Amino acid sequence: MEDVKHREEVGELDILLKALFNINRSLTGEGNRRTFDLLQEIIPLKVFEYACGTSVYDWTIPDEWVIRDAYIKGADGKRLIDFGESNLHVMGYSTPVDQKMYFDELAPHLHYLDSNPEAVPYRTSYYQRDWGFCISKSQYQQLKDISGPLTVFIDSGFKPDGSMAVAELLIPGKNDKEFLVSTYCCHPSMANDNLSGLLTATYLARDLLSAEMPQHSWRFVFLPETIGAIAYLNHNEAAMKRLLGGLVVTTCGGPGALGYKETFLGNHLVDRAIRLAFRDRKVEPIRYPFVPDGSDERQYSSPGFRIPVASITKDKYYEYPQYHTSLDNLDFVNGSQIKESLDLYRDVFRILDRNVVYRSNVPCGEPQFGRRGLYPATGGAINQPGAVGPNEIARQIDAMTWLQFLADDDHDLMIIAERSGIAFLTLEKIASQLLEAGLIELCDKH
Ligand code: ZN
Repeated sequence: MEDVKHREEVGELDILLKALFNINRSLTGEGNRRTFDLLQEIIPLKVFEYACGTSVYDWTIPDEWVIRDAYIKGADGKRLIDFGESNLHVMGYSTPVDQKMYFDELAPHLHYLDSNPEAVPYRTSYYQRDWGFCISKSQYQQLKDISGPLTVFIDSGFKPDGSMAVAELLIPGKNDKEFLVSTYCCHPSMANDNLSGLLTATYLARDLLSAEMPQHSWRFVFLPETIGAIAYLNHNEAAMKRLLGGLVVTTCGGPGALGYKETFLGNHLVDRAIRLAFRDRKVEPIRYPFVPDGSDERQYSSPGFRIPVASITKDKYYEYPQYHTSLDNLDFVNGSQIKESLDLYRDVFRILDRNVVYRSNVPCGEPQFGRRGLYPATGGAINQPGAVGPNEIARQIDAMTWLQFLADDDHDLMIIAERSGIAFLTLEKIASQLLEAGLIELCDKH
């Protein structure tokens, strides 16, 4: 049954990857709205439009970019480079061009990678008006060999009266503690950066909506990187300053090893939850200590907000050769890889959301578990070296004694999991049995 569910989810993720891959996303524009439309079929995202030209802290929301077509043609009229084939071919925010020119004049506007001849690089020029084509090294060579004039055409434009779309989903919890989950939506046809983040965050939100009401509130935001996060902070300053911590979901669908970028504090609740999730799954992640470079943690953790945010990654940005190129495609990323990160994130969410504190109802001396049917009747065999007996019972008793020992109004389940080495999810299960037997009660001061 579990297997069937697993396969179904992987299949769904693969379908969504295909549906989203070719959409031309950018900081602004219809591609982002179409992306949100598709995700709204899964979760009820609320889309907000921030007007272009609005000042947000030290930044200004740029004009909305429109791109319809672009190509480079030879004398025979054949498209040598075609935006219709890949939206990576046009540098993001390119100004319009309609000119005939020789290769030498065109060359300063061509971007390619010497190190990776088959890859088309991803380039943008958001804040400086310019135009450009991004091509593979072999395409560059092909253009260079043409001695006659080339037709260079970009049918693009800017809408100063347009807007930048951001999406939000607030999932209320039983208490007023709130966590942030942020992902970005501004990259065109690349899968790990950034479709893996979009899909993982979407599925995490769907999980929370379909389960019983979470303890804490969860704020999901889907926005263009940097300017979107800054604009959102600006529009939601008071609420964002109250956040307990968060996760920036990015680059978590590659074939490589799982990793984890720490919060700027390094030992925040979010860090501890991630470490426990990895530990309990017996996975050793690549550790990336915090640096003020990377994704939107740069904005959320800035001095005005100081929200500790971390990321779980699988082929982290900067770290894989396909990064920001056409090779970050659907051969590189698939649903099954995304699901590995998604399942880890699920554990992190559960740990953060179920991290409660218990108080013992039998604080003086140990409770007598046996009298309550919680302990095997034959004494002596537990933890005896070489004793034949079910390990599962030993583990359960271990969990019971740790829980009962630290049920003192002060130690939450995460601390008990850290000190005992027992998996958080095991402790959670055993705690509910102790609760039912009346040995502990929930402490609500936390
Ligand atoms: Zn990127």
